[in-house]
Parts: sequence; structure tokens; C-alpha cells
Amino acid sequence: MGLFIGSIDQGTTSSRFLIFDDKGGLVTYHQEEYPQHYPEPGWVEHDPNDILNSVYLCIKVTIEQFEKLGHSVKDIKAVGITNQRETTLAWDRLTGKALYNAIVWCDTRTHDLVHRLNKNSSLGADALKETCGLPITTYFSALKLKWMLENVPAVKEAHDKDNLLFGTVDSWLIWNLTGGIENGLHLTDVTNASRTMFMDIKTLQWSDKSLKFFEIKRSVLPKIVSSSEVYGKITIDSPLKGILIAGNLGDQQAALVGQKCFKRGEAKNTYGTGCFMLFNTGHVPVISKSGLLTTVGYKFGNQETVYALEGSIAVAGAAVKWVRDNLGIINETAEINVLAEKVEDTGGVYFVTAFSGLFAPYWRDDARGCIVGITQYTNKNHIARATLEASCFQTRAIIDAMNSESGTPLASLKVDGGLSNSDICMQIQADVLGIEVDRPAMRETTALGAAIAAGFAVGVWKSLDELKEVNAHDRKLFVPKASVENREARYKEWQKAVERSFDWV
Ligand code: ADP
Repeated sequence: MGLFIGSIDQGTTSSRFLIFDDKGGLVTYHQEEYPQHYPEPGWVEHDPNDILNSVYLCIKVTIEQFEKLGHSVKDIKAVGITNQRETTLAWDRLTGKALYNAIVWCDTRTHDLVHRLNKNSSLGADALKETCGLPITTYFSALKLKWMLENVPAVKEAHDKDNLLFGTVDSWLIWNLTGGIENGLHLTDVTNASRTMFMDIKTLQWSDKSLKFFEIKRSVLPKIVSSSEVYGKITIDSPLKGILIAGNLGDQQAALVGQKCFKRGEAKNTYGTGCFMLFNTGHVPVISKSGLLTTVGYKFGNQETVYALEGSIAVAGAAVKWVRDNLGIINETAEINVLAEKVEDTGGVYFVTAFSGLFAPYWRDDARGCIVGITQYTNKNHIARATLEASCFQTRAIIDAMNSESGTPLASLKVDGGLSNSDICMQIQADVLGIEVDRPAMRETTALGAAIAAGFAVGVWKSLDELKEVNAHDRKLFVPKASVENREARYKEWQKAVERSFDWV
């Protein structure tokens, strides 16, 4: 007996299905990696069916484990969904078939399109910033959908015939889970919508100005809903058939909720494939002047919208994978820590991991990766350590921008995500920032955030106060040890290294 909430976490490299109890405790889960496709340099795609099948398999295995523990599926009160954001899908409403692979958030094929569009307005990349809070870059869904319309005849044809459905991964999952061509629900939540460039950040409605700018028909877009409400039931043949879907948040916003950053001024940083810091700005969308993104943090049912400023880093854990798969100096990602620990510092080496340009706060799509400061003395341990440091320095650049916009310096940073498993990386992070880094024992905070949203919608929790004890114990604090002089000198050198990465394409 008991109350449980399911959480589908559809990430960039893997899918998971997790079950939480009503105390926010993780009961069981299953995770499946799925293939990444790189058809050309800078292109990153996922097969939409791999996304679906990996989720279905995770559900099946998790439920088997859940039942083996003596629990019953009927005690799962609702399911929440959280997903890799911006990744763009287009499918046919009549056949239910995807018309192209999903174009993944970090894909840079829209580089030329971005430059073309930036010439359309005297404001350049900021043409829609006041409307949607975002600059025109390769990152956001509108660019990816427009690319499909210009380059994939089947997508164009479906668009012209009003048969096209556009969606981020949450929409694709919900449409399929609720029946697909048989009355599938075509919807997205405000957080995912806030990453498309199509939504007005103030009204939370699709913006005519933006649709006109990108020449996209309104009929292709999903309905915008809140992050926490009962959307509908799972109707397909699945162990979860009949269970309500009641929460939906983009992964970074879900982590903000899962880390319980409910107060203005609280922030979290998630180190996954990329690294994303969200800073709760309360009920006002703050338009950034220093390269941060304005985004919806979450909106629970009819309650007031909570906004966030975001600093996005394209490459974090992905650099560790690159060191493993492309350099081959480690066999497992966690081995990077063993190498990095063998040296006190990087010996003056800096690794700017700008594989697909640099995101916040630089926004340079002409940047490419570089390793600088190499001498005869440099060895693989230094490179390993410099790889970990890269995420820490980029985080520092983002925190500096956030502190200058908010006026109140951040006192402590809550962290999670795969790379936050690395103790040495989190210690370097505390040293680079000069503030405490606070890591929970249960680091599936993204999934927990989606479960919290779903749990709220079905009354498992009624007030945020009830979540006080959730994930509050056994947190690890990393306290800065480096001197101020050392910290500032190294950050200056990092900034010099960043300049070296510019102007490569
Ligand atoms: P996503 O949700 O983006 O798929 P995750 O949060 O699962 O990503 O994080 C995966 C990333 O974390 C991988 O890129 C991997 O390199 C990195 N990672 C995971 N564990 C460790 C570890 N112990 N040390 C260093 N890096 C790690």
C-alpha cells in the first residue's frame, strides 16, 4: 500500500522511468541509453521511434521491479514527464509517423539560417527578445522547425496541407501515450513552450509576431498548458494504461522544482550532457542584458507563473564522453576523476570545450574547442583536469552575469546531474566560484521535479511546505579552499583562453 508517482525522464543520451513514494523517496527505476546520430559535422539527431521505444521499455522494466517489491501499479496516482528541451519533432497527424528525425537541441545545422534571419531586423539576434526572452541562435526549436520546412519536402507538404504536428519531446510522448492518431492529446507545457521562440513570455500564448517572423502556421502548434494539472489518461497498451498524466516540465525546469528552488534568488546547476543554471526570479520575467535567457521556471495549475533566468552551457558531461570516446585516454567516464586527482592543477592548461560554439553568456556560434597552455610537461592528467574545469569556469561566467543582473550575489549553489557525481569536479567548482556547492544524496532531481508537479495535480501534496523533508538529508557541501588571488588569476586566464576559441568558422 502507499501512494506513488511515476516520472518519465527523457534525456539527451538516455531515457528513464522512475517511481517515487509520497515522501519523494526513489522506489525503483530503469534507464536505457539510445542511439545518437551524427549525419554530418555539427548535426545531432534522434530517431523519434527510439525515443518512444526506450521510454516504453523503461516503463515495462521499472513496473516489473516495482511489482517484485510487492507494490501494485494501481497505487501509482499519476505520471509526470520531463524531457530534453528544444529538440524538435515533426509528424503527420493522419499517419502518426515522424516526418524526419528529431533535431537535437545542440545541433548547429541552422547556423546559416540564423545569420539570414538576423539580417531581417535592425535588432539582429535580439529581434524577438522582448517577445520570447531568447536570442535567435541555433539552439531553439523555431529555427529547427524552419530548417525542416525548408529542407524536408514531406514536412513542407504536411505544413501546407495542415497535417503537420510540431512538438518538443514532451508533446511527442504525450500524443503517443494518449492514443496518437486515435485522439492523442497535442499539448506542451509553458516551460517547454518557452524554449521554442514561438511563445510570448508574458502572456504564455503563442505569439503572432513570432509565427509571422518564422512563417509557421499556428495549426502545427500544440496547446499550451500549465506544468501541473491533469492532462489526460494513458490509453495505449502499456503497464501504465489508465494512469493520469499530470505533470510536464522541460528537464532543467524540472530540476529547479526537484531542487526545491521555490524562492526568488535560489538557483540550481545541472551538469548533464550540457550544463544549465536556472535562477528563480519570482513572478516577473527579467529580460537579460548579459547573455542570459528569460524562461518560464514553472507554473502549477492556476497559480502564478514563476520565471527564471537561465545560463546554458552546451558541453559539460559531453566533454567527458569526448575524452573517453574520441581521445580514448579513459575507458569509463568516472575514470576522468582518477586522472584529474593525480595532479594538483592543470599546469596552466585550459580546455575551452566549444565543440558547437559557446552558449551563455558568450553566444558565439563561431567558437570551436581549443586546448591552450600546453607545454612539454603537460600530460593526460592535466587534460582530464582541464576538461572538468571547463564546466566550472563557464559556470563562473554565468554566475557573474546572474549576480550582476540580480544585484544579490548567490550564496550557495545547488547542483545535480551526471557530472555532479564527480567529487573533484564539484570541489573545483566551489574553488572557482568562492561559494559553497550543495549536492543532494538523491540526484535524480529532474525526475523528482516532474513527479512533484504530477503529485501536486492529483493531491498527493497540497502545499510546498509538505516537501520540506524531501531530499533534505545527507547533502554534501563542497567548501571553497582556493585563495581569492588564485581563483581570480585562474579565471582571468580562462577568459583569455575563451577569446582564443572565437572566429573559427
Ligand atoms: P543527460 O540527462 O544530459 O543525458 P546525465 O545527467 O545522465 O545527462 O549525465 C550524463 C553525463 O555525466 C555524461 O556525459 C557523463 O560523461 C557524465 N558523468 C556521469 N557520471 C560521471 C562521473 N562519475 N564523473 C564524471 N562524469 C560523469
